[in-house]
Amino acid sequence: MKTRKIISVLLVVALMMSALVLTSCEKEEDVLTVYTNAEFPPFEYLADNKPVGVDMQIAQAIADELGKKLVIKNVKFDTILSSISSGKGDLGIAGITVTPERAESVDFSVNYATSTQYIVMKKDAEIKTIEDLAGLKIGVQLGTTGDFIISDEISGTEDEETGEHIKGVLEGTGATVTQYNSAADAAVNMDSGKVDVVVIDMLPAEIVAGQYDNFKAIELVYADGSKTDESYAVAVKKGNKELLDTVNKVINRLIEEGKIDKWVVEHTTQSSKG
Ligand code: GLN
Repeated sequence: MKTRKIISVLLVVALMMSALVLTSCEKEEDVLTVYTNAEFPPFEYLADNKPVGVDMQIAQAIADELGKKLVIKNVKFDTILSSISSGKGDLGIAGITVTPERAESVDFSVNYATSTQYIVMKKDAEIKTIEDLAGLKIGVQLGTTGDFIISDEISGTEDEETGEHIKGVLEGTGATVTQYNSAADAAVNMDSGKVDVVVIDMLPAEIVAGQYDNFKAIELVYADGSKTDESYAVAVKKGNKELLDTVNKVINRLIEEGKIDKWVVEHTTQSSKG
């Protein structure tokens, strides 16, 4: 009898311990970690020190679909993709433009928004095209498509097949590029005259221009009329098809329901205040 009792007590203890181990494992699995850079309104910005915005609502919808708790990591924009490709984070959602180079290190979801580059300038500036930036000091956000476009136009590029130098439209004009950690930072430096213009994505450009009385923003076009069409997508670790499928399913549903358009309007209004 006694041994029986001991055995059943031991069994109960063992059961309790395995339950504990199970719940702690589950805890790990129950989290969806999203990397962003909350300096890109209306897609992500801080409200009461918490990242909010269109992308954060998309993140929440994906977490809900997966039945997981959403954890947001607010980091520098140019570190997001390596955190996803290394598996440190599950998803990168940060108004990330799909480019062929980036698609080599991560998989991208379906597109959920489009954008073009914009030029933020003082109201009295008479700039119409990218060619008009000749000789100017240009501020950008480090590691963004605006940075790549301006840097390439200043230094020129190489033809991938022939290796031949392709002259940039700003090459040899004396134009310079300064990389800042955020558009807001670049705007402060434009206000103080350290840079003449800032080149960033459309909606953040319009929002930041609206925050200064003497700023305006225009679309970046080339003299030949061409533009810089971009699409935003969610970054997933390469080969994680299951997660990518869920992300695509949620994004397609949100687009269909008109939620993304609605959130863009709401968060543009909210992030423009103050
Ligand atoms: N869309 C731009 C890019 O992907 C900028 C994104 C951002 O600053 N968050 O480079």
